[in-house]
Amino acid sequence: MNNDDKKNCIACGITEEEVPLIVLTYKGEEMRICPQHIPLLIHEPQKLVGKFEGAENMTPG
Ligand SMILES: [Zn+2]
Repeated sequence: MNNDDKKNCIACGITEEEVPLIVLTYKGEEMRICPQHIPLLIHEPQKLVGKFEGAENMTPG
């Protein structure tokens, strides 16, 4: 069983048991990202394309 997928970092898969994860919401869906990958989400969202729906629509900040 792999029901805990949504409680993993979308970039690296680390769990909330290991590090605090930041919860994001998008189109009513929750996803999580670890502090280490927040810069990736902000500056290089194209690297997350395929990790979550809508990443291709993000503009690097
Ligand atoms: Zn991560």
